[in-house]
Amino acid sequence: MAQATHKYVYYFGGKHAEGKTDMKELLGGKGANLAEMVNIGLPVPAGFTITTEVCTAYYKNKKKYPKELEKQIKDALTEVEKEMGAKFGDKINPLLVSVRSGARASMPGMMETILNVGLNNETREALIAKTKNPRFVYDSHRRLIQMYSDVVMEKAAGLEPEEGKGVRQQLEAELNKMKEARGAKSDTDLTADDLKELIEIYKSKVKQVLGKPFPEDPMAQLWGAISAVFQSWMGKRAISYRRIENIPDDWGTAVNVQSMVFGNMGDTSATGVAFTRNPATGENYFYGEWLPNAQGEDVVAGIRTPNPINEIGKSEHTAHLPSLETGMPPAYKQLNAIQHKLEKHYHDMLDIEFTIQETKLYMLQCRVGKRNGPAAVKMAVDMFKEKIITKEEAVMRVQPSQLDELLHPIIDPAVEIKTKIIVKGLPAGPGSAAGQVVFSANDAVAWAKNGKKVILVREETNPEDIEGMRSAQAILTGRGGMTSHAALVARGWGKCCIVGAGTVKINLHEKYFTVGDVIVKEGEWLTLNGSKGTVYLGQLPMIKAAEENPDFQTFMKICDAVRKLKVRTNADTPEDAARARAFGAEGIGLFRTEHMFYGKNSEEPLFKLRKMIVSNSETERRNALNELFPFVKSDIKGTLEAMDGYPVTIRTLDPPLHEFVPNREDERIKLAGSLGISLNELNERAEKLHESNPMMGHRGVRLGITYPEITEMQVRAIFESTVELMAEGKKPFPEIMIPVVSHANELKHQYEIVASVYSEVCEKFGVKKIPHLVGTMIEIPRACFTADKIAEYAQFFSFGTNDLTQMGFGFSRDDIGGFLPDYLAKKILPVDPFQAIDQEGIGQFMIAAVTKGRAIRNDLKIGICGEHGGEPSSVEFCHKIGLNYVSCSPFRVPIARLAAAHAVVKEMNSTKPVVKKVVKKKLRNNSKRKK
Ligand code: ADP
Ligand code: MG
Ligand code: MG
Repeated sequence: MAQATHKYVYYFGGKHAEGKTDMKELLGGKGANLAEMVNIGLPVPAGFTITTEVCTAYYKNKKKYPKELEKQIKDALTEVEKEMGAKFGDKINPLLVSVRSGARASMPGMMETILNVGLNNETREALIAKTKNPRFVYDSHRRLIQMYSDVVMEKAAGLEPEEGKGVRQQLEAELNKMKEARGAKSDTDLTADDLKELIEIYKSKVKQVLGKPFPEDPMAQLWGAISAVFQSWMGKRAISYRRIENIPDDWGTAVNVQSMVFGNMGDTSATGVAFTRNPATGENYFYGEWLPNAQGEDVVAGIRTPNPINEIGKSEHTAHLPSLETGMPPAYKQLNAIQHKLEKHYHDMLDIEFTIQETKLYMLQCRVGKRNGPAAVKMAVDMFKEKIITKEEAVMRVQPSQLDELLHPIIDPAVEIKTKIIVKGLPAGPGSAAGQVVFSANDAVAWAKNGKKVILVREETNPEDIEGMRSAQAILTGRGGMTSHAALVARGWGKCCIVGAGTVKINLHEKYFTVGDVIVKEGEWLTLNGSKGTVYLGQLPMIKAAEENPDFQTFMKICDAVRKLKVRTNADTPEDAARARAFGAEGIGLFRTEHMFYGKNSEEPLFKLRKMIVSNSETERRNALNELFPFVKSDIKGTLEAMDGYPVTIRTLDPPLHEFVPNREDERIKLAGSLGISLNELNERAEKLHESNPMMGHRGVRLGITYPEITEMQVRAIFESTVELMAEGKKPFPEIMIPVVSHANELKHQYEIVASVYSEVCEKFGVKKIPHLVGTMIEIPRACFTADKIAEYAQFFSFGTNDLTQMGFGFSRDDIGGFLPDYLAKKILPVDPFQAIDQEGIGQFMIAAVTKGRAIRNDLKIGICGEHGGEPSSVEFCHKIGLNYVSCSPFRVPIARLAAAHAVVKEMNSTKPVVKKVVKKKLRNNSKRKK
């Protein structure tokens, strides 16, 4: 407060800029990078950035600006005027500006930019006299009115006209009327006089629709535009986008005021958008789109089909269009040199915006380009190989969600090749998707809520469609290029998307579209191949794409070279185990023996298990167990074999036995018969097994304590399979895991059973040693705080974070549906603790267990086998607290490998580790139990 002048405005232009690229928080992404481009000597029209602090202050202070602001803006404007040799509002040599929003994180299409600010009837005449180009000046003027009345006078003013009644649409209708009357195909066909007439029509329309005249005073226009940008930060669309992307409201947006340069001055002028590499595939060539005699958003708005920027970027759809490379060689050459310079400077793929005014090139924006998963992986691998980035940087270039895209399905190529393509568009978002056709964002949301998979089909999309696009499996548009709204948004999300499928004709009213003579009605199935841009009728079969992708494989190897955590999988069958091996799993972290009693082929073993369950005496039970033994053994053996050379953690029987008692009478009769008892007797025995709270009832280690023979049987199966596999020259490595332990004595009891079966099996097979570990699941809070005592009998711990979360919170996993959604909606909890480890609570139990366990046994191997083991933030936490491995479902293994690598890099980059580091020791698989 004591500070007389706080700096709210930063100048850029000519040879100097007050900002730089790492000032994004203050200047927004656009402002910081405009400054940076000036700093490295690129041609950028002069301007200034009003900081994000102003936005925050504006909303804190009842929409009032800091009082220093006005003078600072005036001073900066004077500097801009000097640099450009023109004066804002001047009646002889007027300067025009654009007013551009620029948040920290790019929010495509969310905030509105207004061009040609400063034009009125007087400055217009001056500009005509100066440029001798009346058509261009009138065109700019009508654009200003169109944009300004929509963004400033309607949206920022909070007006919400009904669908189709907005001022923008009404003005567009006037434009179309004029085009029709003059027989003009495109707006570039309208003459200066046409446009002049149109401007007057626009002005009276604005007054009629909005009840206010269009502001003539340039300064009023400027302030109106600046306020509109700040207003739009709290606009509905911006808020909705921030919610989806988790961007805090208090970040604020900056505003950039920049001298206009004109791409609409004729055929030697142009505007365009480009990427230093192809953002859809990651291929390393300059990629972009441009339009001659155009301004601003024309390229991305899908009004005219944009041209490819160069020859290499041409596809079969765009081969006939002129490239900038051949159309304006000197400007292209300069642009190409600049894009190389920029990529070298930023070490990343950039998205750039440029305008050419009468052959002179200007840079208007650059930022790190959005890319989909496959492109992110390819670019990370390529740039690492090109030595542009380190392996750590390469790893950080791919987000877990992007990797996920590669794990998503593609159409089975064998089927695709035989299927007729109904239409082809531009491949804007890769992967494939099938769904039922809907024609509005609202329908997409509603159908998806009912569990339907939908494809959103639109003429083109706009920011109002965001929620619908989010809900859809894929998006198909009739218009727009690779940088259109639909393409940008879909690419950011990694969603399958096809744009510019020009022959798609939509009848919104009757809810169908046609392509040629094919009619597709609402609700019909379509399949899209977003990597090729091809559309098929019906629902085609999908396969996974990752395995055949060499870049994916290389990228995973880079992750492996960085990460320290091992990654295992949770698998219950030899097939799952094999699949997980293909995804790079380094063992099984959880093999649930009970799995064999569910589903396919389970009838026989289940019957034997049931016999065992309802047995009344140890003899009866032992007999049943003997019958069950061969099934258990072959199941275990198959899995150990599939994971040959890697550890397999086998959990002893865990669920409460009552779960397995048959409900159907015919089954009960059969069971009673095989035991030689009456149905009544059987019903009585089953009744006794009933529990009122089975989750906390007779399960896990408790079963092994009341019925030691059950543990014995399982352990024998494990050891015998191991010995047999060894005899076959294999390298099995079982880890016997006792679940639901809360007291060290429970584990001691089971440990002794294991030890005695071990000696028996060694003797029976005449072997001296069978490699294995004995350990326990840590899933009860008491176990965490007595982990030192438990570690006396455990060579490893594996966190069962599902139960640990359940018991730590006291949230019954089966009943959370009743209240957890409310907890999340009301932000009582930031995230579902059953998905991401609650680090400040449940995580503290884990830290206690790690610390206490390792205090007794410093080579204690510790992993996690709960659902959390494949969730990126949880994986990072596991790394921080010194676990040896995480284990997750097979298809999440690559994500866990990446997240584990991210954890290492984040740790390197952060000065203070958040959690006290727990001593970690490399373990060999055959670590011995300490005395
Ligand atoms: P967005 O945040 O949507 O990218 P921009 O602020 O980049 O919006 O503005 C959109 C387009 O308007 C730019 O791509 C550019 O073509 C045009 N534009 C913005 N400022 C200027 C300017 N000073 N001169 C010429 N064109 C401009
Ligand atoms: Mg835009
Ligand atoms: Mg832009």
